[in-house]
Amino acid sequence: MSEVRVRFAPSPTGPLHIGGVRTALYNYLFAKNKGGKMILRIEDTDQTRFVPGAEEYLIDALKWCGIELDESVVDGGEYGPYKQSERKAMYLPYAEQLVKDGFAYYAFDTSEELTAMRERMKAAGVPSPQYNSVTRTTMQNSLALSEDEVQKRLDAGDPYAIRIKMPRNEEVRLNDIIRGWVLVNTNNMDDKVIFKSDGMPTYHLANVVDDYTMKISHVIRGEEWLPSAPLHVLLYKYLGWENAMPEFAHLPLILKPDGNGKLSKRDGDRLGFPVFPTQWTNPETKETSSGYREGGYIKEAFINMLSFLGWNPGTTQEIFSMQELIEAFSLDRVGKAGAKFDFDKTRWFNQQYLRAKSGEVLAQDLQVILKENGVEADDKFVATVCEQLKERATFVKDMWEEGKYYFSAPTSYDEKTIRKKWKEDTPKYVLELKDRLAGLSDFSSENIEIEFKKYLEENELGMGKLLPAFRVSLTGLGMGPSLFDIASLLGKEETINRMEIALEKIN
Ligand code: GLU
Repeated sequence: MSEVRVRFAPSPTGPLHIGGVRTALYNYLFAKNKGGKMILRIEDTDQTRFVPGAEEYLIDALKWCGIELDESVVDGGEYGPYKQSERKAMYLPYAEQLVKDGFAYYAFDTSEELTAMRERMKAAGVPSPQYNSVTRTTMQNSLALSEDEVQKRLDAGDPYAIRIKMPRNEEVRLNDIIRGWVLVNTNNMDDKVIFKSDGMPTYHLANVVDDYTMKISHVIRGEEWLPSAPLHVLLYKYLGWENAMPEFAHLPLILKPDGNGKLSKRDGDRLGFPVFPTQWTNPETKETSSGYREGGYIKEAFINMLSFLGWNPGTTQEIFSMQELIEAFSLDRVGKAGAKFDFDKTRWFNQQYLRAKSGEVLAQDLQVILKENGVEADDKFVATVCEQLKERATFVKDMWEEGKYYFSAPTSYDEKTIRKKWKEDTPKYVLELKDRLAGLSDFSSENIEIEFKKYLEENELGMGKLLPAFRVSLTGLGMGPSLFDIASLLGKEETINRMEIALEKIN
């Protein structure tokens, strides 16, 4: 097989939605699995939809995800430029060749004339009128007008578009890797504009010309492009490139969590989770949409979650590094059915990755949050805090929110715990325990536990009688990691001090 070359071809019309990141990811995994190349091509032929910052956004987002590009607008490559507006001059000759060969034609219709045609057809009972083999005969185009008239208009510089001449009643077939054979009759297709009066190709022509000239071997893209694929197949044929046509794989949609329709850009903030990889601020309205990166997600967890939206490894393994994904990925295991987005599962992935990190690594991120909150703490101490808290956290920020007591004595005490567990005789026990602990020379977690249990035994007390009171004294809370670990980390002096404060404040 010739070299595998795939492309991710977004249009810079806004931030890259996670559906787009999934497309980029599958392209990347497929390419790397086959030892091929991953190309990023910016499809900006529709200049009316251009959004400033969108291109920079997507490059930065792909970088954060760890999706590496072999050829792109950033570092170039052998088949550049990698942005369609910079390839502008390449497209017209192909459109003209199609006209010359009788597969396309010039259309001079103004937008008023197009509207009038649609209205005429609607009045005649056609619900969705199209520019096609029937209507084209009544329009201002090089098939309906005389040759002289056409020449006259071209010479006068009249604006024109180039449309594909859709044949009548022909079957177009394509063998999609995920969907199998897709058959469409040309009677159901219209004479799409392939070159616009503004001098730019439309998506269809540019996409095919670029895939061909960039030697793309596989087109892996979202299902929403499946309806365009038959037109692309015809363009390959009419341009004489049938033998070099890439293989197609149309990926299933990503659905809303309830399965009702496609996950949209608006769903995220509506349902309370990000739908963008990184935060995006609309340059015009300054409105911000949340992103996974800023939300504290571990990028490996984000990627792992995305990889499962449409693909599965066929085993029970759920945790995959990027390298493992590359090794395991194949398009055969991508399904046709839409994949429901599951936000709880996304959080679960993050939790798994968080737990797998060492306290030292997590401490680096926690230190950033601590600094923001004006807390100074020793790296080693913070690493131990992370070790103790990571089992209970989904995000690094949870460790700060749930573990503030590691950094300062509690200022309030959990009411429910006090109500239920701080009885009349509790202060006496807390005081005695404090004195016992003060006598310890080895303040290790094990030793504190031994002493604590010894005290309970001697006084015939159950765990529930003293442990919650001890915990609330040190942390202010009713729950948390092993209290003996916490006490040991805080140290003897701080532990005793907190018990004294609690005895003073509670009651
Ligand atoms: N420019 C199209 C998009 O925005 C690319 C579709 C394709 O991959 O062919 O998704």
